Amino acid sequence: MINLQEFVTKKYQKSIAECSNEELYYALLNLSKETSAAKPTNSGKKKVYYISAEFLIGKLLSNNLINLGLYDEVKTQLAAAGKDLIAIESIEMEPSLGNGGLGRLAACFLDSIATLGLNGDGVGLNYHFGLFKQVLKDNQQSTVPNEWITEESWLTKSPLSYTVPFANFSLTSTLYDIDVPGYKTATKNRLRLFDLDSVDSSLIGDGISFDKTDILKNLTLFLYPDDSDRQGELLRIFQQYFMVSNAAQLLMDEAIEKGSNLHDLADYAVVQINDTHPSMVIPELIRLLTERGIEFDEAVTIVKSMTAYTNHTILAEALEKWPLEFLQEVVPHLVPIIEELDRRVKAEVADAATYIIDESGRVHMAHMDIHYGYSVNGVAALHTDILKSSELKPFYDLYPEKFNNKTNGITFRRWLMHCNPSLSHYLDELLGHGYHHDAAELEKLLDFKRNLSVKVELETIKAHNKRKLQRFLKEHQGVSINSDSIFDIQIKRLHEYKRQQMNALYVIHKYLDIKAGNIPARPLTVFFGGKAAPAYTIAQDIIHLILCLSELIAGDPEVSPHLQVVMVENYNVTAASFLIPAADISEQISLASKEASGTGNMKFMLNGALTLGTEDGANVEIHELVGDDNIYVFGEDSQTVIDLYATNGYEARSYYEKETIQPLVDFIVSDQVLALGNKERLERLHNELIVKDWFMTLLDLEDYIRVKEQMLADYEDRNAWLDKVIVNIAKAGFFSSDRTIAQYNEDIWKL
Ligand SMILES: *Cc1c(COP(=O)(O)O)cnc(C)c1O
Repeated sequence: MINLQEFVTKKYQKSIAECSNEELYYALLNLSKETSAAKPTNSGKKKVYYISAEFLIGKLLSNNLINLGLYDEVKTQLAAAGKDLIAIESIEMEPSLGNGGLGRLAACFLDSIATLGLNGDGVGLNYHFGLFKQVLKDNQQSTVPNEWITEESWLTKSPLSYTVPFANFSLTSTLYDIDVPGYKTATKNRLRLFDLDSVDSSLIGDGISFDKTDILKNLTLFLYPDDSDRQGELLRIFQQYFMVSNAAQLLMDEAIEKGSNLHDLADYAVVQINDTHPSMVIPELIRLLTERGIEFDEAVTIVKSMTAYTNHTILAEALEKWPLEFLQEVVPHLVPIIEELDRRVKAEVADAATYIIDESGRVHMAHMDIHYGYSVNGVAALHTDILKSSELKPFYDLYPEKFNNKTNGITFRRWLMHCNPSLSHYLDELLGHGYHHDAAELEKLLDFKRNLSVKVELETIKAHNKRKLQRFLKEHQGVSINSDSIFDIQIKRLHEYKRQQMNALYVIHKYLDIKAGNIPARPLTVFFGGKAAPAYTIAQDIIHLILCLSELIAGDPEVSPHLQVVMVENYNVTAASFLIPAADISEQISLASKEASGTGNMKFMLNGALTLGTEDGANVEIHELVGDDNIYVFGEDSQTVIDLYATNGYEARSYYEKETIQPLVDFIVSDQVLALGNKERLERLHNELIVKDWFMTLLDLEDYIRVKEQMLADYEDRNAWLDKVIVNIAKAGFFSSDRTIAQYNEDIWKL
């Protein structure tokens, strides 16, 4: 039992009721930090270092209170003093130290590693500014720096510090730790974020622009906002090397402290390389080992048995390939090592597609990971199959034993207990608490499938969550929504492969249909949320179209009672936690083969939304788990798509010319939309869809519209719909990141 009043008195010498929400936030921050500081860290001989350029941890207060077992007590004691934990939590700045799914996955994994009591830390960078804040103005996205570190924060400065050598200078790091308490465990882990004291925010110019050359002042200033911005690549190499050199020195020190003689380093440490951003850890470990007297050959053998790589994408443009000359400029001491590693590959392997350094002198980071690590995993069954059979086939032919699948997962502490307390309390009542530790126990919910009172309650909870979202949007964006409408939600980074543009074309279809007199049985609210990389023009154009459609429809009294489009500003973890519990329809409409896994799809399913999706990523596994009757699947499958790419067989124009499709596409440049928007942006998007459409929007559009209309019609049979909802929640247990992490440990880490 804690006594919050006692704690508050010590800090402020006054009663809880007399404190401001801000004071209470800092009191609770201190309480959480002190409680987890008192816990020992997980220990053991071998330790996993989950190195990642991104940890999209989101706000921590409620989650930490839940994991520390304090949430309910704190909430009750606050309420007794007339204070609301939700309002207090809104004081916290969200640490958006990630771009999207990949970074959020890393955060969920830390929670599960701690909860399973495994010996492992996250290692990354302490960006002073997380992912930019998105502001919607004049129907466009603008970007604002997002500073999250306040005077008092979750960070605790550690005395550890390392020297990291670059070409003409060395930098000395500072390490900050964030405790990661497991769910009701006696122990904790840490997220270890390296930083540089000399970083200086006065470097920031307009918006999120800054001087990219002044490394001393900018190294950890910003999370790289984007994968397609080619500027600042050198800075990115600086960041990555700073991260992995610190990580490598840290893990060697910790191993030595536990008795390692470095020859046996692999018995003490395993490195999970999350995407290719930390790949330089391989040559860096070799460099450090040889510096400490180990022969090169042996160093290679050691590193080969302690590094494992996770692939997150088959999008060629997202696989890092650094020009050798860039590495020469930033980290010349790694270049001879990388060249030697490449020479050894070339001496043994005939297939040039697997070389580390290609004929144009680019270093393929993933290739280095695969040759010189012992494990390569994809993040969903379909994705891993595609890696084996096409994207990484030459590697699979060489090393079939290295390849394995680890279907992604999400932490249920955040994505059920925290974001949807009404549902989680109701599940506690129906099923007991067993599912908190063993998510597979959610299946017990299937026993209630034909139970009318359960359905009524689930309906009530959904309505409650819709009103919660309604209040959130009113407060944060001044937007009013109809909480009695169907909530159809697509929230994720803006990218053509995720096909927000296809959903926008559906909106156009619906708008024209209502104009033609077909009034829907029930109003529909279509929510979009997502940031576009600042350099990604077409993604900005898609946001622009969505905002123009939103304005057009809101201003049309014939249509607005039946249809509303909301672009949620600044989509982040906080917004997700309000949107997901309120959803009826989960939009997972990527072009088949392109979404490695997705994790948003899992969050929605767990919260009782039904998936409208392609056979892509983890949607395939959702489909298998819930069965044909409980998911809405459409579109061409991945093999068809892969063949279309291979044969250049897709021609957007032939689809555009169909009489069902042309009016929808042309509406983008209709007088009505042009009157609200920017001609250049709309015409560029229109043209893109007709002449290129690289992600085959028009290929699946008709099927998408057909299945979505079916879904809306099915919504009216509440009884049947709620059966499907029950099956989705019940089968979501598989997607707990506790399951994923248990598999990583069993097959890869072996802690
Ligand atoms: C879960 C999550 C994502 C990933 O969503 P996908 O639909 O899998 O792309 C991105 N951003 C935030 C804030 C998330 O919570």
